[in-house]
Amino acid sequence: MTFPFDALAACRAELEDEATVNDARAAFPTAGLDRLRQLGVLAAALPQTLGGLGFGTEPHGAAGLLHMLRLVGQGSLALGRVVEGHVNAIRLVALYGTPEQLAHVAAEVHDGALYGLWVTDGATPLRMDQTARGITLHGGKAFASGARHVTRALVTARAGQDVTRMLLVAMGAGRAVHDGGGGLTGMRGAGTGQCDLTGMTVLPSALVGQAGDYLRQPEFSAGAWRGMAVALGGIERLSALLRGQLAARGRAGSPAQQARIGMALIAAETALLWTRRAALLATGHDRFAAGDISATVNLARLAVERAGLEAIELVERGLGLSAFVRDNVVERIIRDLATYLRQPAPDETLCEAAAWFTQRDMPQPDIRA
Ligand SMILES: Cc1cc2nc3c(=O)[nH]c(=O)nc-3n(C[C@H](O)[C@H](O)[C@H](O)COP(=O)(O)OP(=O)(O)OC[C@H]3O[C@@H](n4cnc5c(N)ncnc54)[C@H](O)[C@@H]3O)c2cc1C
Repeated sequence: MTFPFDALAACRAELEDEATVNDARAAFPTAGLDRLRQLGVLAAALPQTLGGLGFGTEPHGAAGLLHMLRLVGQGSLALGRVVEGHVNAIRLVALYGTPEQLAHVAAEVHDGALYGLWVTDGATPLRMDQTARGITLHGGKAFASGARHVTRALVTARAGQDVTRMLLVAMGAGRAVHDGGGGLTGMRGAGTGQCDLTGMTVLPSALVGQAGDYLRQPEFSAGAWRGMAVALGGIERLSALLRGQLAARGRAGSPAQQARIGMALIAAETALLWTRRAALLATGHDRFAAGDISATVNLARLAVERAGLEAIELVERGLGLSAFVRDNVVERIIRDLATYLRQPAPDETLCEAAAWFTQRDMPQPDIRA
């Protein structure tokens, strides 16, 4: 079985159009998600033995997953974020859950389920209490993608002092979601919301893995490469729009604009090379030291962020005020990318990676291969 990359590439314009139409209302891209589901995007992450392609769950699937997330990101960063969370949740169940849990996930995904990974705590961090009736949850999650659309979420909950557990919770029609803080200015199609899980009771079989598994390295840091692949798609799309719009306005020939086109191409290629490098390390647990994997992926995260910020600046300076006009698709993609580039603790990420590689060299790829 192979993934229909050509069909996915062909529907990018459809995804982009829906993202543009939905932006003002911050509506969720239900048609785009259905399209991706039909193409097999949501099932691709499952292991091959469970009817998937191993994209995200098997080392050989990394290249395919990178290309799939990149293509979705080119069409819609918001949908890319939703798919990336879905893949991440499946991967964590595959890594730390039981075979029965993974088989159950696979059955649900083949049935159309959308998974989410909600770990960011809100004002009241999510806590779990074990009682005779099962596990009761208190508190909620912030910035939860697909808050009203995910059918099952993998959440982290505090189970005591410095103890974090993962749980799979079914999200039914009665879910308590609010937009919080007036809503985001970008990534408005990702359906991001604050989800209150207080009072929800789940069975002990909902627990995934052991205490501390979610934060276990190198997986905790290495997983960031999938978000980079989505951001890469947005950077590539902006770079293509810069070239196209400058040419359409007869401005592509000026030396200053040519320099911007060149720099935007370099930014996109830089993001691609770092993302591929991160994916290679992240899926090479048997070949690289855990610290090398985490630190390299952390550097890659910052490099992709820098490439994205540079692409935004080049597009804004190259297209001028037209990049700020609402009916130019560039305006929305810049808002989406700028928002998506805000990932947790960038200072710490850079400093930790720098400290790790101060006393040792970065693992080098064999460029003769
Ligand atoms: C569109 C979108 C969808 C998302 N979807 C999900 C989701 O589905 N599930 C989920 O769990 N999360 C989700 N998130 C949240 C995301 O994972 C991050 O938690 C969030 O983006 C962190 O951004 P931040 O800028 O607030 O990070 P912060 O970590 O608060 O960083 C902001 C700044 O503060 C600095 N800083 C951080 N900590 C400290 C400190 N202790 N002292 C001093 N400075 C500090 C940082 O270096 C940085 O300069 C989503 C976010 C977005 C934008």
